[in-house]
Amino acid sequence: MTEIAVTGAAGRMGREVLAAAANREEIEVAFAVNRTSVDELISGVVVESSDNFAELLAEYEPNVVVDFTGPESARTYADACADVGVALVTGTTGFDDDGLDALETASESTAVLKASNFSRGVAALRLAVREATAALPDADIELTETHHNAKRDAPSGTAKTLLDDIEGVRDDLSDRVHGREGEAPRDDDEIGVHARRAGDIAGEHEVLLGGSNETLSLAHRAGDRSIFAEGALDAAEWLAGQEPGWYDFFEVIDDA
Ligand code: NAD
Repeated sequence: MTEIAVTGAAGRMGREVLAAAANREEIEVAFAVNRTSVDELISGVVVESSDNFAELLAEYEPNVVVDFTGPESARTYADACADVGVALVTGTTGFDDDGLDALETASESTAVLKASNFSRGVAALRLAVREATAALPDADIELTETHHNAKRDAPSGTAKTLLDDIEGVRDDLSDRVHGREGEAPRDDDEIGVHARRAGDIAGEHEVLLGGSNETLSLAHRAGDRSIFAEGALDAAEWLAGQEPGWYDFFEVIDDA
C-alpha cells in the first residue's frame, strides 16, 4: 500500500489525482490540501487548508506527496517534504531557475520526481522526436502546443522539455523564437515556438520538421487529464521507498 498526500486537491489535476486514487486498491490518500478551503468532499476525501501542510505531513507521514499546483507552492511543499523525508512527485510546471534549484536541494534529503508530463504517449513522443531530429539534421523545426484557456505558463512545460530534447540532439539550434510578427524571416538556428490557448483542451503538442520537398509531423493529443493522473500515481508507487535523489518519469516507465 502506498499512502499519498495530494496538494492542489481542488484544482483540475488535483481532482483527477483523487479520482484516480479512489480507483486504485494499492493507493490510499492520507490527506489532501488546497490553498482555498473546499466545502465539498472530492472523490470522498476531505480537503484541508494548505496552511497546515507541514503539520499534516508530520502527523500522517504519507509515503509520497503528489503535487500539481503552482511553482511557488510546489517549492514550499518540496521544502516541507525534505524536512521530514517524505518523497515528492510533482507535475507542476513553470519553475524558474531558483525554483528548480530549490527542488534539487530538496532531492538531497528526499526522493523527488519531477515531470512536465506524466503521459506515456508524450514519453513516446519525446523518444520519437529525438530520433527524428537526429535523422533529419537539416530540417527546420517548429513546435506548437495548445492548452485550455486558464493555463498560466507559456510555452507549456512539456513544450520546454521537447525543446530541450531537440537542442540536445541539434546543437546548431539555439534560438527559441516565440511567435513571429512583421518582418520576421527565419534564421537557420531558430526553433519556432507557438502557444495556443482555447476552451478546455487538455494538451496538444506537435513537432514539425520541414525539409526540402518533405515534412514530418509528430503530434500527441491528450484526450483528458486522467492520463496525467494515472501516470503521476504510477510514479508515486514507484518512488515510495526510493533513496533521496532526483528521479525521472522514464525510470518509472522502464521499470513497468
Ligand atoms: P489549476 O489552476 O486547476 O489547479 C491548481 C491548484 O493548485 C488549485 O487548487 C490552486 O488553489 C492550487 N494552488 C495554486 N497556487 C497555489 C499556491 N501558491 N499555494 C497553494 N495552492 C496553490 O491547475 P491545473 O490545471 O490543475 O495544473 C496545475 C499544475 O500542473 C500546472 O503547473 C500545470 O501546468 C501542471 N500540469 C502538469 C501535468 C503533467 O502531466 N505534469 C498535466 C497537467 C497539468
